[in-house]
Amino acid sequence: MDPFWVGLWAREKEFMRSIKPEFRHGAGLVGVATLSGQFYCEYKVENEFALGEVPSEAKEAGTDLHDELMPIEEIAPEDFARLVSGKGPNYAVLGLWGVIGGLRLVGMPDHMIWSYGSPIWLMELKTTRGDPNLLWRDQEIQARIYGLLLDSMGFDCSNLKLAVVRLRSGALDDGEKGDWIAKVSRALVDGTIEELEREHRGSMKIHTLRHEKSVAEAAVAAKRGYWIGEREPTSSESIAKCRACEYNKVCVKSLTRPKW
Ligand code: SF4
Repeated sequence: MDPFWVGLWAREKEFMRSIKPEFRHGAGLVGVATLSGQFYCEYKVENEFALGEVPSEAKEAGTDLHDELMPIEEIAPEDFARLVSGKGPNYAVLGLWGVIGGLRLVGMPDHMIWSYGSPIWLMELKTTRGDPNLLWRDQEIQARIYGLLLDSMGFDCSNLKLAVVRLRSGALDDGEKGDWIAKVSRALVDGTIEELEREHRGSMKIHTLRHEKSVAEAAVAAKRGYWIGEREPTSSESIAKCRACEYNKVCVKSLTRPKW
């Protein structure tokens, strides 16, 4: 086996052994999705820890759609290394981990494309009932931090690009779901994104970004103080965000909560 992979797995074990409950809420790890969620509203993250996750039909439908569009089959690490090391493009995702700005971060991207052992595309899927053309800051940052973790794990990210695909809920019929991920992957690799978007006019937008370490590092630096006890959470200044938030009836910072 290539020494890179052996070294990577050894470092991963070391990383896992180093976990201790030293962050806010006694957390030993911070999820990339959670940290990115701070860009929507930090108090929402606080509420998730204090009150638990609020299930909703939209969330469940989104999870089901992810599973339908991007089914995953678990394989052994050696098989993963073999699979992504060929010319490709090869499709495979792996759990990402690393220490950034003193925070132990972990996360699992939705989809990745590899060539000769290097990631060339990282993709996140976001379902929406709104306008797919809008890209929210928290969604952008999530993809960027995944890129940063890949870099810190030692992968060659010189050709890495990021995509956030915003797909309107209910836009795909059953016939379209089966080969959707293959079509999106081909469009990313072949540079035919606009054609695919035309096919799904108004219901899908592929937002592409260059991988830029410094942007992702700055995002983590802006949010780490909350985790290491340097400061209390900030809260949303947007009524629209509070209106759309599942905690708006119980959140003490809600801008839409009835004044009792
Ligand atoms: S109700 Fe508003 S302030 Fe409270 S968590 Fe939701 S978005 Fe944040």
